[in-house]
Amino acid sequence: MISAPDFMPEHMLRDVQNRKFLDVFRRVYANVPWYRELLEKNNVNPDSVKSLTDIVKLPFVKKTDLRETYPTGMFAVPMEKIVRFHASSGTTGKPIVMGYAREDLDAWSECSSRALAMFGLTAKDVLQVSYGYGLFTGGLGLHDAGERLGCAVLPTSGGNTGRQLMLMRDLGVTAIACTPSYFLHIIDHARKIGFDWSETKLRFGIHGAEPWTAEMRKFMEDETGYVARDIYGLTEVSGPGVGGDCPCNSGLHIFEDHFYPEIIDPETLEPLPDGELGELVFTTLDKVGLPLIRYRTRDITRIMPDRCPCGRTIRRIDRISHRSDDMMIIRGVNVFPSQVESILLAIDPNLVNFQIHLDKDASGLDTIEVKVEPTPAQFNELWNDDDAKEAFRKRIAGSLKDTIGIGFKATVVAPDSIPRSEGKCKRVFDNRGAKE
Ligand code: ADP
Ligand code: ZN
Repeated sequence: MISAPDFMPEHMLRDVQNRKFLDVFRRVYANVPWYRELLEKNNVNPDSVKSLTDIVKLPFVKKTDLRETYPTGMFAVPMEKIVRFHASSGTTGKPIVMGYAREDLDAWSECSSRALAMFGLTAKDVLQVSYGYGLFTGGLGLHDAGERLGCAVLPTSGGNTGRQLMLMRDLGVTAIACTPSYFLHIIDHARKIGFDWSETKLRFGIHGAEPWTAEMRKFMEDETGYVARDIYGLTEVSGPGVGGDCPCNSGLHIFEDHFYPEIIDPETLEPLPDGELGELVFTTLDKVGLPLIRYRTRDITRIMPDRCPCGRTIRRIDRISHRSDDMMIIRGVNVFPSQVESILLAIDPNLVNFQIHLDKDASGLDTIEVKVEPTPAQFNELWNDDDAKEAFRKRIAGSLKDTIGIGFKATVVAPDSIPRSEGKCKRVFDNRGAKE
């Protein structure tokens, strides 16, 4: 299925964005007292907002603003118009509650089903949704997307991994949607029970909700014989299906007729030109329940400056390598979990289960330790051979040091000792604060 809005001539797309932007700006200004106050505080006069180019005059909205107005202080419609809630999966502090009007659910499922179509799915596909159902947007988001496209949807949610595999094989599932971490867990379980992927009809994996590297993607594709696709989204903006990659596999197309992207320098807050790396900012062009103008995602990426060979006119962002708050500063050097993942998988594609522990040594200097879990077969070999174990450890520590430029401690841990995740995976444990 070809989605016409993906290929809209660029001048038409800009017209649509312009019209929708002026409308959403007026609605938010009229209906959200908090936003009116924010504009006043920033000395912005709504009369000076005449077209999308004026967006640069407007202040940014941050996650903390949504927290401070918890639970419904930024809703733009009365409760009778709200038909669903979701909340962000953030584990610290109050959740961020989003309210969806009927129009919002329609626009969301339109975009998420456009993502599925872009990945190559059709009504003939059987889609297993192994994202969690509930306040998290993953489960219900992909569920609505699949039904809208006409797929047969299997709503397994997360958990009971053995049964997931059995149903996948027996019902002829052709596509599975879940976090990359949960798919690793599924692979792990499949290896343990001797599951034969060739007995399935699986052809696509649809993964997102957390950063995952190209190396991780290759590992999952090589293991199962399917094609992995990247889906991007965030609760504040709607949920999964804000963008996704196309078969050219060179960045994620944003459904720009609904979400207007900008890249800013997170320090100066100045807009950056296409091609430059910075923080992704979104304006929801037609949201009704809780529209957001210039919302700072904290996701770090760039807008790709060139046109995608697939012919879509909607622009692409590079895959999200990290969030600004994922950055670890170790002895003055910036380190991202995705760098560690790429390096480990380049050493051995099986080293997908790892953890990063930050601490301070006796003199107060930061230390970074990577705990790596080899496969059971690798572990058995290493366990009986101290020299081999030491060489393996040194190889990991050496590669990390060579690429990142600081000393790492590498520790080999027993199979299954690193907890597996059914949703997003927590890989970094920072114990430095406890010692200050
Ligand atoms: P929370 O902020 O609590 O994790 P969400 O579940 O809404 O709430 O997660 C949205 C975030 O997940 C995005 O801002 C981004 O950091 C991350 N994310 C979503 N999709 C992807 C993806 N395809 N690649 C990398 N990161 C992603
Ligand atoms: Zn494309």
